Amino acid sequence: MRFLKKKESLRGLLPLLPIISPFMEQVWITKYGAPSVLKLQRKPSREPGKGELKITVHYCGINFADLMCRLGLYPTAPKPPFVPGYEVSGFVERVGADVPETLVGKPVLGIGKFGCYSSEIILPMERVIALQTEEQLKQAAAIPVNYFTAFGMMVKQAHLQSGEWVLIHGIGGGVGLAAWQLAQLIGARVIGTASAHKHTHLRELGVEHLIDYHTEDFVARVLEITGRRGADVILDPIGGTNLKRSYQALAKLGKLVNYGFSAAARGTSRFSIQVLKEYLKRMKFDPVKMMMENKGVFGFHLGFLDDRPDFTRQVAETIMTWFNTGEIQPVVDRVFPLSQAPEAHQYLHDHKNFGKVLLSPVES
Ligand code: NAP
Repeated sequence: MRFLKKKESLRGLLPLLPIISPFMEQVWITKYGAPSVLKLQRKPSREPGKGELKITVHYCGINFADLMCRLGLYPTAPKPPFVPGYEVSGFVERVGADVPETLVGKPVLGIGKFGCYSSEIILPMERVIALQTEEQLKQAAAIPVNYFTAFGMMVKQAHLQSGEWVLIHGIGGGVGLAAWQLAQLIGARVIGTASAHKHTHLRELGVEHLIDYHTEDFVARVLEITGRRGADVILDPIGGTNLKRSYQALAKLGKLVNYGFSAAARGTSRFSIQVLKEYLKRMKFDPVKMMMENKGVFGFHLGFLDDRPDFTRQVAETIMTWFNTGEIQPVVDRVFPLSQAPEAHQYLHDHKNFGKVLLSPVES
């Protein structure tokens, strides 16, 4: 893996110029609400400035966070109208001053902060990672949010060790499957919660201990599977009452990482009884009680780590190395055309996805 460097040669032949349109297509969150508030709009193209690259996007990743943004439940999101999305893959179309011309035409992965549901995007060079082949484009768009989050929680925060038990909630989702693959590399023992319709597929991948959280008490099942010990590490993106129960399933000396509040995103509006109920029932932690139980609770949010470039660099280097060697294989469930962003959001909302869902401005 390498981030692009300013020092790379500025010479190089003029690339085969792609057909350049003065317009791009973008999906905008026009107001808070149901998936129908996502609208495809044509906007004028712009040119990259100093230190920037313009990418012709082939794939953009959809994350659960985008659904939360659409509902007005995401802490770092701008107010509508705005273009959501954090990750793209595609080809470098143009470069600005101080960026090597030799990069034009190369396949890359780009990490944005909103603005990625777009047929083209301009990013600063330090947010772009060179890919080895164009065959990597599809899987690469499934990497940044899912794998950086899974790595940050399990490796940097919880220091998951070989032989330890990890409970991964929503193991059939994007972050869930990324966490499963990383736990495999670490040599940890995995328990996953997922809807029953995902179990066959998960077993085929090798997940041995599965809990259908709709019909089973996951706390009781975790204690049963681990011989009453509990899980050493628990990754909980559900929040609300689920988090309280995760704490009960934690082993002594265990670490619970809260990294989401998807319990609040079940409806189609920002203000719902469901959101309020889950918010009021959220866990309040008592350090004295935690001390006596020898349990730890962490919070993780990738969106608030911009001021830690050391973290981003380390995680990106490690994950891209594993991607290039084939040790991690991002699971892409489905690609929707950019114009079908509302259908794609509904697909995630309905829990139909197994792994990552992408949008594509070039596939129909
Ligand atoms: P995703 O692909 O849609 O996966 C989420 C999965 O969660 C769904 O497939 C669903 O699986 C499962 N789920 C829903 N309610 C559940 C419950 N009560 N118990 C167990 N599983 C449940 O979404 P994602 O993009 O991976 O994101 C997952 C969560 O992580 C979201 O809350 C998101 O906001 C959070 N996240 C946080 C960060 C961060 O930096 N803090 C970064 C990325 C994601 P079933 O179909 O099996 O029901």
